[in-house]
Amino acid sequence: RSSAEKFEFQAEVSRLMDIIINSLYSNKDIFLRELISNASDALDKIRFLALTDKEILGEGDNTKLEIMIKLDKEKKILSIRDRGIGMTKEDLIKNLGTIAKSGTSAFVEKMQTGGDLNLIGQFGVGFYSVYLVADYVEVVSKHNDDKQYVWESKADGSFAISEDTWNEPLGRGTEIRLHLRDEAKEYLEEDKLKELVKKYSEFINFPIYLWVTKEVDVEVPSDEEESTDEEESSETTSEEETEEDGTEKKPKTKTVKETTSEWEVLNNVKAIWLRNPKEVTEEEYTKFYHSIAKDFSEEKPLAWSHFTAEGDVEFKAVLFVPPKAPQDLYESYYNSNKSNLKLYVRRVFISDEFDELLPKYLSFLKGLVDSDTLPLNVSREMLQQHSSLKTIKKKLIRKALDMIRRIADEDPDEPGSKEKSDSKEVSEDDEKKGQYTKFWNEFGKSIKLGIIEDAHNRNRLAKLLRFETTQSEGKLTSLDQYISRMKAGQKDIFYITGTSKEQLEKSPFLERLIKKNFEVIFFTDPVDEYLMQYLMDYEDKKFQNISKEGLKLGKETKLKDLKESFKELTKWWKDALASENVDDVKISNRLENSPCVVVTSKYGWSANMEKIMQSQTL
Ligand code: ADP
Ligand code: MG
Repeated sequence: RSSAEKFEFQAEVSRLMDIIINSLYSNKDIFLRELISNASDALDKIRFLALTDKEILGEGDNTKLEIMIKLDKEKKILSIRDRGIGMTKEDLIKNLGTIAKSGTSAFVEKMQTGGDLNLIGQFGVGFYSVYLVADYVEVVSKHNDDKQYVWESKADGSFAISEDTWNEPLGRGTEIRLHLRDEAKEYLEEDKLKELVKKYSEFINFPIYLWVTKEVDVEVPSDEEESTDEEESSETTSEEETEEDGTEKKPKTKTVKETTSEWEVLNNVKAIWLRNPKEVTEEEYTKFYHSIAKDFSEEKPLAWSHFTAEGDVEFKAVLFVPPKAPQDLYESYYNSNKSNLKLYVRRVFISDEFDELLPKYLSFLKGLVDSDTLPLNVSREMLQQHSSLKTIKKKLIRKALDMIRRIADEDPDEPGSKEKSDSKEVSEDDEKKGQYTKFWNEFGKSIKLGIIEDAHNRNRLAKLLRFETTQSEGKLTSLDQYISRMKAGQKDIFYITGTSKEQLEKSPFLERLIKKNFEVIFFTDPVDEYLMQYLMDYEDKKFQNISKEGLKLGKETKLKDLKESFKELTKWWKDALASENVDDVKISNRLENSPCVVVTSKYGWSANMEKIMQSQTL
């Protein structure tokens, strides 16, 4: 077209497109869910704006917030249309080609090292998956603030934009037209599309329609005579007709096939969180998790919690523990505050970037909150300051911690869970087996960060801690288990910190405790040092670092006498080491075989902490 303006794709985007076009990836289906997800986002945006400005929706069909899929078998075109916010000319140029997102290069990198194309949506470049199935794509779009434009590209390094003077006006929204490759003809089959929408897009909160063509049987009169309608309704009509005809004549009809087309809705728009949890199946929760977390790994979430909060602040929520932590969960922990919960107010999507819903340490959870109490017609900023958010947050934390505790309670491998699970079916037990260890390996650090950050829930979080000890035989154990094994007369919970269990097992500090059969916790994660500065006690028991001063193992005798008789020697040692940063030299009863040991003062940094500070591992 002569009026078309040409643009080059930004270099990274171009590379991404090459990778997609040449991909041998067999699961090409994913393009549809990416397009539907974009359509749904665009509809969410216009619905949100319409909260404060009703005019924005326009009138007639423009007010219908829907997604429509159409097939043109002859021209081999699959088109997906939405009545969402649409894109201005500038939006088209920026969003579809010239501005690379942070995820673009990350995704390119992933793909070059054998990453899974299925995850494309998580990197914010899902649109380009259209080139898995199409060699030419047109995007027709109409935004309220601009004219209708067409974006088109054959993925050859450039795209073109033209003012649209030839297509039917969209009113508002976007239509994506995929000119399918020969190998992708299956996407012209209605059944295939129905199957895909069912599989991936069932939980989209707008109706998704497919233009279906049906063959229907219709009865038509078999001869030229006028239809039977008149005769049947003759009871009330003029007498002449009956008189003329005399007998009741059965009309002859025949059945013919006729094709008709209509919009068929493919999804159930009733939001899952509004349904009764008892009526939602496990499979539905799993699919819902995949769709809201954009996690299509096919793995089940580790746990979920679906509840309604009542009282001053009313809301419904569904929370999920993902099966895996994202790679960068703790890398970005300190500079990102993003929670992964979607916030809805009375069924209207508001935002998925509301930090106020969950504390940072729970940001690994996915899910949504739909509140009836929050006001609808205010800006996001005002909403962010709404007093109800504090209450919502408090309840969400409680429910989240309950949900995590339940993973442990239901896991037959967990210490102390045996008695509880007796009555349960074996098969159910099998499924829950080892789930808490899995949780702990993925998200244990979050629990520790929680203990540091959330004084209010410290005890609840401490219950979730797992660690190895001198008596746990290579398995993980809990504080409750530790306490249940404490020796008569033992007052404190003993622990030692270091870089590995193997290193700690050789520590002279352990000698006497092991000999006397006291259990000692091994803390080997760098974050544990910080953790123990916040975790002072648990169930009225104090924590005692056995490498620090002040270790008491119970009634100690003889020590006074020993101190007296070694007075001279200790003084000599103290003078001799005065220049070596040694504060004091003392007689101790903590050793069994080693002659002496260097101990940290009660309030000083442990040797391990010194090491951590030196290497700045955290
Ligand atoms: P993401 O959806 O994660 O942002 P995509 O690659 O899927 O990434 O889409 C890129 C951008 O293109 C979107 O952020 C949006 O701005 C725009 N876009 C794509 N599809 C539509 C649509 N149907 N309506 C409006 N804007 C869209
Ligand atoms: Mg997208």
